[in-house]
Amino acid sequence: MQKIRSRKEVFNFSAGPAVLPTSVLEKVQAEILSYGGSGMSVMELSHRSSWFIEIIESAEVLLRELMAIPDNYKVLFLQGGASLQFAMVPLNIAPNKKIGFIDTGVWSAKAIEEAQKLGGYDVRVLATGKESNFSKLPQIGEIPTDLDYLHITTNNTIEGTCFFDVPKTDVTLVADMSSNILANAYDVRDFGVIYAGAQKNLGPAGVCVVIIREDLLELNTNPLPTMLDFKIQAKNKSLYNTPPTFAIYVMKLVFEWSKQVGGVAAIEKNNRTKAGILYDYLDASTLFSSPVDKSCRSLTNIPFITGDKTIDSDFIKQATAAGFENLTGHRLVGGMRASLYNAFPIEGVYALVDFMKKFAEARGEK
Ligand SMILES: *Cc1c(COP(=O)(O)O)cnc(C)c1O
Repeated sequence: MQKIRSRKEVFNFSAGPAVLPTSVLEKVQAEILSYGGSGMSVMELSHRSSWFIEIIESAEVLLRELMAIPDNYKVLFLQGGASLQFAMVPLNIAPNKKIGFIDTGVWSAKAIEEAQKLGGYDVRVLATGKESNFSKLPQIGEIPTDLDYLHITTNNTIEGTCFFDVPKTDVTLVADMSSNILANAYDVRDFGVIYAGAQKNLGPAGVCVVIIREDLLELNTNPLPTMLDFKIQAKNKSLYNTPPTFAIYVMKLVFEWSKQVGGVAAIEKNNRTKAGILYDYLDASTLFSSPVDKSCRSLTNIPFITGDKTIDSDFIKQATAAGFENLTGHRLVGGMRASLYNAFPIEGVYALVDFMKKFAEARGEK
């Protein structure tokens, strides 16, 4: 039977849904029965009430501030996760049905598949990291200028690679930023569309953030199902139907926390420190190593291996027993993975490295 633990006894390395700031959860707890003196839980408030309108509007204001989102971009809070955006983006902003992709692993492959499923789209994979087993980002050659857009996955959650610099092109750039939004600083002006499921760096599962340049809203002239139509969603300020109110409320609190800890620049700096501690150990260890090329190592998702499946599973078992939760690598790649999202505390990285050192030393390794 699993031991009963308190939050203090656990470090949660989950890739998503992932760790949230404890202070945010405490605030949720304090307000859960009566939001803002309303006598009602935030979950019980109408999405058209002034209480909720204030929540969703401040969430937008805070995100605009955190990412320096220019005024000519809309911010949408939608449902269906990042996975729905794989289809929604091509439906809305590809009038010529020509899309380019950089294939950097499992999530970009899913985005490619979804675009293909729509039928009638010229889906071009301009570069793939397949040859290196996605352990590094591929070289990107000439980008055709007749594309409606070029899609990249800024951070590859499963493979542990990251675009620190985005491809330079005049073609509209679309980014799946699910696992490093607010974790790495990007210039929103480099993108036409940014989307991200909330459950990694932004809040609970159930809401997906979409940031879209206004002129792109005019590209589609075909009728689309209402919920899949960016223009309708934008016109209705993400309130066409009932939005995931609780998830948006918690996300707003995470935005407040993100601002309070210094904003994206400070968060990225902290993420570099946290990731650096683990990478430094992985590079020095004789037992553990990182399979990812040094040029593009993610700050938020860090896969590592021993090279021996039995030792890997032994390590995961012992680590879990010691309170290091969710270190199992993705089922497609095996090994281990430590996700160090924004809310993951640095103490947890020190503790993990300490634990890994002891595990290695017990085997005559370092
Ligand atoms: C988690 C993840 C997704 C899927 O997000 P959902 O919200 O579950 O659809 C897509 N892309 C990337 C890069 C992810 O990390």
